[in-house]
Amino acid sequence: MAIDRLRADFRMQVLLTFALVTTLGLLPFAAYRFTNGDHWIGLFDLAVVAAIVFGSAHAWRTGRTQGASLFMAIVYSLSCMLIAQFNGLAGLLWVFPVVLANFLLIERSPAILLSAVLVLGVVLGNDALVDLAHQWMFAITAAVTCVFSHVFARRASAQREQLEAIASRDPLTGAGNRRALVSGIEAAVSAQGRGGGGLGLLVLDLDHFKAINDNHGHEAGDDVLVQLAVLARECVRRGDQLYRLGGEEFCLLVPEPGVDGLALIGEKLRAMVAARVRCGDQAVTVSVGGAMLRPGETASQWQARADAAMYRAKHAGRNRCIVDGDGGASAAPGASPGAAMGGPAIGRPS
Ligand code: GH3
Ligand code: MG
Ligand code: MG
Repeated sequence: MAIDRLRADFRMQVLLTFALVTTLGLLPFAAYRFTNGDHWIGLFDLAVVAAIVFGSAHAWRTGRTQGASLFMAIVYSLSCMLIAQFNGLAGLLWVFPVVLANFLLIERSPAILLSAVLVLGVVLGNDALVDLAHQWMFAITAAVTCVFSHVFARRASAQREQLEAIASRDPLTGAGNRRALVSGIEAAVSAQGRGGGGLGLLVLDLDHFKAINDNHGHEAGDDVLVQLAVLARECVRRGDQLYRLGGEEFCLLVPEPGVDGLALIGEKLRAMVAARVRCGDQAVTVSVGGAMLRPGETASQWQARADAAMYRAKHAGRNRCIVDGDGGASAAPGASPGAAMGGPAIGRPS
């Protein structure tokens, strides 16, 4: 739904709101210019509206707002500078919302640069600023607007980032949460649909985790979860994404590994957990299941295959990695159940 998309993307919201307001604000002026016989100014207003519509349509279609935002900020600033030349005192008033738009749409340095060019251009070219005192007064009020816009834009973006982190991170381990996994997987599936590379999914479930909680307490269990997340982050590549599905179950989204590569990553993780994750002096193990996304497959079908592979690893004796290949399930090379170093594995007779 368009409204949900807008709610989820603040930059798109700002971009389209400014586009709508300026288009609705400029069109009556264009009509007024044409009826008064000022055809060139009317055409100029229409050209600005066309650029705004083009920029916002491009952002909406591609979902990429960064380039479109810069384009729109340049269009607003340059056209505002020109409008201020033609329209005396009334033209000056556009400068203030355009400065605010610059700081909300783009990064600080280009926003400062564009706003400075705009204010300087207006100060030097507008007839309504009749003497030095008026020019100074205008420049100072515009500078104050820049400072407030900057403070407001940065605070809003810092708070938005904090809220996004709270809404998408598991507070215990710092991994993405289930909500983030759903959007991560859906984004991956639609990227694959648009011809992206192959995608792998690993599901990791700690073995006999209930026994860890029962024998050592919930805090020790939490500590194991943190150890697993730290280790997983340490051994995965940039671009791989770790999520905690809930409880003692984690997911790793791996771009372009290939079936064999996915099995190797799963096996490496399994071996590292068995070798390094500890609860007291006891080794902790993990069962890993994996699946590559198949063409035409939905996110839930893909996840179900990775889950099924993980359950096969559990039933085969735990502390294993099984990746669901196109030819069927396969154990990762070197998987050796229960072969943890440094102490007996939890839940197994020592
Ligand atoms: P299996 O080898 O078959 O996976 O057995 P298991 O004991 O790991 O699986 P089970 O699903 O029976 O137990 C999962 C346990 O995870 C039960 C619950 O007490 C514990 N758990 C769930 N969330 C948390 C958490 O946030 N912290 C801690 N410490 N324990 C949790
Ligand atoms: Mg478990
Ligand atoms: Mg579980």
